[in-house]
Amino acid sequence: MKNYLLTISLILIASCSREVSNDSVTIFTSRQPQLIEPILEKYTEKTGIKVNLLSGNAQQLIERIDIEGDKSEADIFMTVDAGVLWQASERGILASIQSNTLDKNIPSHLRDINGQWFGLSKRARTIVFSNDQYTIDDFSSYEDLANPKWAGKLCLRTSKKIYNRSLLASMIDANGFDNTKLVVEGWVKNLATDVFSNDTNALKAVSSGQCGFTVVNTYYLARLKTDSTYRNLTLFWANQKDRGVHVNISGAGVVKTSKNKEQAIKLLEYLSSAEAQYDYASANKEYPVLIGASLDAYIATWGEFVEDTIGVEKLGKLQKEAVFLAQEAKYN
Ligand code: FE
Repeated sequence: MKNYLLTISLILIASCSREVSNDSVTIFTSRQPQLIEPILEKYTEKTGIKVNLLSGNAQQLIERIDIEGDKSEADIFMTVDAGVLWQASERGILASIQSNTLDKNIPSHLRDINGQWFGLSKRARTIVFSNDQYTIDDFSSYEDLANPKWAGKLCLRTSKKIYNRSLLASMIDANGFDNTKLVVEGWVKNLATDVFSNDTNALKAVSSGQCGFTVVNTYYLARLKTDSTYRNLTLFWANQKDRGVHVNISGAGVVKTSKNKEQAIKLLEYLSSAEAQYDYASANKEYPVLIGASLDAYIATWGEFVEDTIGVEKLGKLQKEAVFLAQEAKYN
């Protein structure tokens, strides 16, 4: 497997090697390129700095940066989910950087304590139900979805997706391993059907009545809501009376082997600024990390919510426990 990846990496290097230039920055990204291209074009217009994007699967990009070492073209690694950023830092591919601007713009629970990665948008994962069957008064918390009264009503995405591993990690942090295991066993008992491979299909199953509710990242709901077929889908902010709704991030860090760290830092600072935060977050109907930045008009209609302010690096640290817990609770 390693030989195979190495071969691919060498071919890719050979096919796109370039001179190192202080006038350009290269981002290796698993965040969809179309979400960031317009902002990067603005940045280039403003500064004259060209931004190259190389997109791919997060694990493969981490592997590639690691294998290429000093020869890597990557200046910035950008991805979604704090768990992945944490994996990148564990792998040793990120530099610790110090930036007063990033520290000021990004709340401390949404960035690495050592400056290896920074959250650039927030992604809330919460309950969505069918208003054909329920009202907001029926719901309270992720934990309550384990109540036997919900038998045959819950739809869930697979626990193999890192979004759910991070959610379980936040529950382990809040409630402990054993209590979380009991909750997840309750979820599994309440499942209406096999787990789904993605959030969108889980939402469609709720809308069609196959189940009554699910747990998803809110931007998937925002995408479906442009179609009136899904008007019965209703958002509920979970755990508002205790720790708040589970929040994850998309984010980025400067690559350790970058020859252009100064420009890489400037670009991250720009992405965290008031000028860029609305565009960066609203492109995917996410929430800005910068306090006071404007919200996408549609997601603003969901109102304010209390968010879980767990330090998101814990979502990475507890990832292995979350995987083990899901196996123990038979959550596929
Ligand atoms: Fe997603």
